[in-house]
Amino acid sequence: MKNKVDVAVIGAGFAGSILSAALAKSGLRVALIDSTHHPRFAIGESSTPLADMILRRLGKNYQLPYLEALSTWSSWQRQFPEIACGRKRGFSYYQHHREQVFSEEMLGQSSLLVTASANDDVADTHWYREEVDQFLFRKSVDLGVQELLGHRLMQIDQEISGTFTLRSICKTGEATLHSDWIVDASGASSVSARLLDATDLTHTVRTQTRTTYGHYRAVGSWSQKLQELGHNVGLNPFDSDDAAQHHLLENGWLWILRFNNGITSVGRTEWIGPETLKQARCGNSSDTIKPQSLPHDFHDYPSLAELMATASLTAPAQGVQSTGRLQRLVAPLLGQRHLMLPTAAMTLDPLHSTGIAHALAGVDRLLDIIILNKGGTEQRQKVQQYETSFFQESKLLDELVSTAYLAMEDFERFTAACMVYFAGAICCEERYQQGKNPTHLWNADDSEFVEFAGQACLALRQPNNDYRSMIREGLAPWNTAGLMDPKVQNRYAYTATK
Ligand SMILES: Cc1cc2nc3c(=O)[nH]c(=O)nc-3n(C[C@H](O)[C@H](O)[C@H](O)COP(=O)(O)OP(=O)(O)OC[C@H]3O[C@@H](n4cnc5c(N)ncnc54)[C@H](O)[C@@H]3O)c2cc1C
Repeated sequence: MKNKVDVAVIGAGFAGSILSAALAKSGLRVALIDSTHHPRFAIGESSTPLADMILRRLGKNYQLPYLEALSTWSSWQRQFPEIACGRKRGFSYYQHHREQVFSEEMLGQSSLLVTASANDDVADTHWYREEVDQFLFRKSVDLGVQELLGHRLMQIDQEISGTFTLRSICKTGEATLHSDWIVDASGASSVSARLLDATDLTHTVRTQTRTTYGHYRAVGSWSQKLQELGHNVGLNPFDSDDAAQHHLLENGWLWILRFNNGITSVGRTEWIGPETLKQARCGNSSDTIKPQSLPHDFHDYPSLAELMATASLTAPAQGVQSTGRLQRLVAPLLGQRHLMLPTAAMTLDPLHSTGIAHALAGVDRLLDIIILNKGGTEQRQKVQQYETSFFQESKLLDELVSTAYLAMEDFERFTAACMVYFAGAICCEERYQQGKNPTHLWNADDSEFVEFAGQACLALRQPNNDYRSMIREGLAPWNTAGLMDPKVQNRYAYTATK
């Protein structure tokens, strides 16, 4: 059969390219299809310890040393200084109030810093996706992956023999490809789910948010702003600019991620669900959704307005991007040999920067399924496990993220919601650190942790509940990082990683 490959990968984002490279390295014939061309603007940039650990694991297991090099700030700078990225030592959160300069009477009252990596050398990174994705794509092509860029996929059929036929349209007309496997790595486009009319499960997702974002030049330094405002930054475990900055606002938050090429990613995410914590307290709710705020419009938040005063939009070319509701969910299993990456099956929310790790974990798990290709019961079990892990992870994340939004206007409550997430993430990091390969991320396979997280979220969602001691005591079995310790004033320097 002409144009026949073992695996057709739909989507040449970082995940599709890494998957294709590892498959090619393992001797399989792979075609990588994308409707666009590189370089292109992409959002979803802040990496995490979990993402970096999986990247290293993939690099080692499939002899792709460039993945290991991209897994820490210093090795990235040494080996690929031409690819832009940002230094990320951790996660930082600051609560702002309308018409007020950022301030806190006591350290930690309106700020939280959680360390992700112990020093600058082993720091995580923000990926300047336009360049990282292009680099990873080129590497896969160098390894023999057949590139089909500029191909818009139109139809997928499965023959009686089990072989798939994929039809796409490109500049020169129509193209046909045959494959034994399909992996959908098309991210939010969810191409194969759309083409096969898969059941939409988005109504089961509690998180309801939308976002606006863009890349800017000349965004002011938050670290410098804090010093100008007289804040004691000496006790911070890392520089506030070397972080995924979260600035909490009324009804949402703003991210600021600085790259080392003078460009900064700025985006504003808003809750659009029918119920906010404030409304729950007052006993009323409103479905009225205000017009969407732009990421550079902060006239009502003076400290942020100063940061953005000199900023100018550089990308995307068509201007600031605005989404409708971000969330979508379908089952990742479209057939025993037709699977979707977690990030093609679900978009949740940027709040805990979980997308890159989830995509990479999916790559790791699918490689295991496709390369071992045992067939029969063993393969069916692995595929089933893939779907089970995905749904359990998605449910846990959705619970934690939606609760954090509902708690957002009460900083202490929001912090407690984050602590439950960080406990799960750190436990999972520790398992990777010990050389294990957990079937789930974020401790979602630990039923006791999942049950506790559910109870904690319930307590946090009830306005007058005393959640503090419940969470502090309940978290103990997983709290290796000393979270919820009032003595440290919301400065957590512990890290499991590297
Ligand atoms: C606003 C926002 C902020 C985020 N921030 C973070 C963050 O800070 N950290 C984090 O870890 N995650 C974040 N995420 C999640 C992250 O963006 C995704 O997890 C990540 O981009 C998924 O990568 P991917 O390679 O799976 O898919 P993508 O990067 O989306 O790549 C998909 C590819 O498929 C191609 N494609 C689309 N349609 C078709 C078609 N019809 N035919 C062929 N090809 C097609 C596209 O052109 C694209 O190249 C964020 C998400 C959003 C929406």
